[in-house]
Amino acid sequence: MTQFVPNFINGVALESQSQRMLPVFNPATGEEIKKVKLSTADEVDAAIAAADQAFKSWSQQSPLRRARILFNFKTLLEAHFDELARLISTEHGKIYSDAVGELTRGLEVVEFATGIPHLQKGEFSANAGRGIDIHSIQQPLGVVAGITPFNFPAMVPMWMFPIALACGNTFVLKPSEKDPSVSIRLAELLKEAGLPDGVFNVVQGDKAAVDILLTDPRIQAVSFVGSTAIAQYIYETGSAHGKRVQALGGAKNHALIMPDADIPATVNALLGAAFGAAGERCMALSVAVIVGDELADKIIENLIPKVKALKIGSGLLPEGVAENDMGPVISQAHKAKIEDYIAQGVAQGATLCVDGRNYTVAGFENGYFVGGTLFDRVTPEMTIWQDEIFGPVLSIVRVKDYTEGMAVINSHQYGNGSAIFTRDGDAARQFSQDVQAGMVGINIPIPVPMAFHCFGGWKASIFGPLNVYGSDGVRFYTRMKTITTRWPDSTVRTQAAFNFPTL
Ligand code: NAD
Repeated sequence: MTQFVPNFINGVALESQSQRMLPVFNPATGEEIKKVKLSTADEVDAAIAAADQAFKSWSQQSPLRRARILFNFKTLLEAHFDELARLISTEHGKIYSDAVGELTRGLEVVEFATGIPHLQKGEFSANAGRGIDIHSIQQPLGVVAGITPFNFPAMVPMWMFPIALACGNTFVLKPSEKDPSVSIRLAELLKEAGLPDGVFNVVQGDKAAVDILLTDPRIQAVSFVGSTAIAQYIYETGSAHGKRVQALGGAKNHALIMPDADIPATVNALLGAAFGAAGERCMALSVAVIVGDELADKIIENLIPKVKALKIGSGLLPEGVAENDMGPVISQAHKAKIEDYIAQGVAQGATLCVDGRNYTVAGFENGYFVGGTLFDRVTPEMTIWQDEIFGPVLSIVRVKDYTEGMAVINSHQYGNGSAIFTRDGDAARQFSQDVQAGMVGINIPIPVPMAFHCFGGWKASIFGPLNVYGSDGVRFYTRMKTITTRWPDSTVRTQAAFNFPTL
C-alpha cells in the first residue's frame, strides 16, 4: 500500500486531500518508497490560520517557559538520533554518520535557542536625558515561514525554527518535496516536548504552497534556503508583499592552496570537502585554486588514486559493515545533470583526471550514483567553473600566485564560503581580509560557523541583510521597539504646598 507523507497542522499529522502528488525515492536503490501530496491552498491556509491563532498565547509565554520546551526537544532529539539519521539517509542518500553530523549541527541551534531569556533581554539606558530612561524590547513578529532544500532536510529547518519559536513566533515549514518525512518527525517531537498545537506546522508542497506563504498577509517573515534563482524569486516576491525575507542561495566554494601548504592534510581536506555528501553541500569545496605548477602536479598526483578509491554505495549498511565514503545523489535527473556537466568540461577543454560517469554499485544497480570526478586545468570560461554542479566533481584551477588566485575567486558570482591552505600567517590574514565570501576557513575546509555565530554568504549566495542563526537569527525573528520614558514629578514623593502656586 502506498505510504503518503502527511502534513502537520495544529498538532495533528494529517494526510493531504490533494490530488497532486510526487514520488519520494530511496536514491540508493532507485525505488519509490512513498508519495508526498502537494497541499491544497485550503490546507496551506489552515496551517497559517493555526499558527496565527497559536501566536496569541505563545507570544505571551515567558521566554524561560519557551526555552524549557526547547530543552525537552533537545533531549528528545538526542534520544531519536538513530531513527532520524536513518530516515534522512533513506530519503536523501547521505551516509549514516553524515546524517548524524547534520542532526548534531541542528541540535546546536536548539541549544543556542535555549539561551533565549538572555538573548532577548533587550537594551536599557538609565538617564539617557534628564529624568529620561530608554529601553528596547525585541518582540516576536507573528507567523513566520521556512522554505527549505533537500540537502539538509533536518539541519536547515533547525537553522530556523528553534530561534523563531524561542523568540515567540509561530512557524509554518514547507520542506523539500524530495525528502519530506523527517520534518514530520521533528514536528511530532516538538509536540512531545510540550509545544502547544499550532505553534509549529508543516505543509508539504511545491511552488503553489510557497506562493501562498509569500503573499498571505498573516505571514510576517520568510526564511529560505535553496538555489539562487529561487532565492531571488523568494526575496523579491516576499519583499514586494511586505515581508521580512532572508533567502540563502547557491554556492561555488574555492580553496586557495599556497605553495607552503601541508600536502597530505590539504589533500585529505579536499577529499572530504569536495566528495562528502556526494558534493551536495552548499559549503562543499568544488574548486581548488593551486599556486604554482609544481604544487598542482603534486596535489593531483596525490588526489587521483584517492578519488578513484572512494568507497561509494548505500548510506545505510548492515551493522558491522564499514561505512562508505559517500552515497548516491538525490535523483536520476540530478545524476544526469552532473554527468552532462562532466561532458561539458571535457568538451570545453578541461583535463578529466578521474571520470565518475556511468558509475554503478553492485546490488544497487538502479541507485543514483556518480563516481568521484576530478578535473585539472579548469578556467573561468568553462561552465564547470561558472555553475554550481552540486555533485562529486572537484575542479583544479592553476594560478601563478596569490594575486591571480584571489582574482579568480573574487570574480565568481557566488561568495558563500572560501578557504586557504597555508602555513603562513600573513597570507592567511590577508586572504581573510581580501576574499569576497561570507565564511572563511584557514586550513579548515568547510567553515560552517557554530550556532552562536551566524551563517551566510555574500553576492549571489544570499538575498537580504541578515544571516541565519546566531545573533542575526534573533534579530531576524524579532522586531525592536524602543521605549523612552519620563515620569511626571511625583506628588507621592513631594510634600503638599500651601502657598499660592507660582512658576
Ligand atoms: P531548490 O531551490 O530547488 O528548492 C528549495 C526549496 O524551494 C524547496 O522547498 C522547493 O520546494 C522550493 N522551490 C523549488 N522551486 C520553486 C519555485 N519555482 N518557486 C517556489 N519555491 C520553489 O533547492 P534544492 O535543490 O532543494 O537544494 C539545493 C540548493 O540549495 C543548492 O543550490 C544549494 O547550494 C542550496 N543550498 C544553499 C545553502 C546555503 O546556506 N546557502 C544551504 C543548503 C543548500
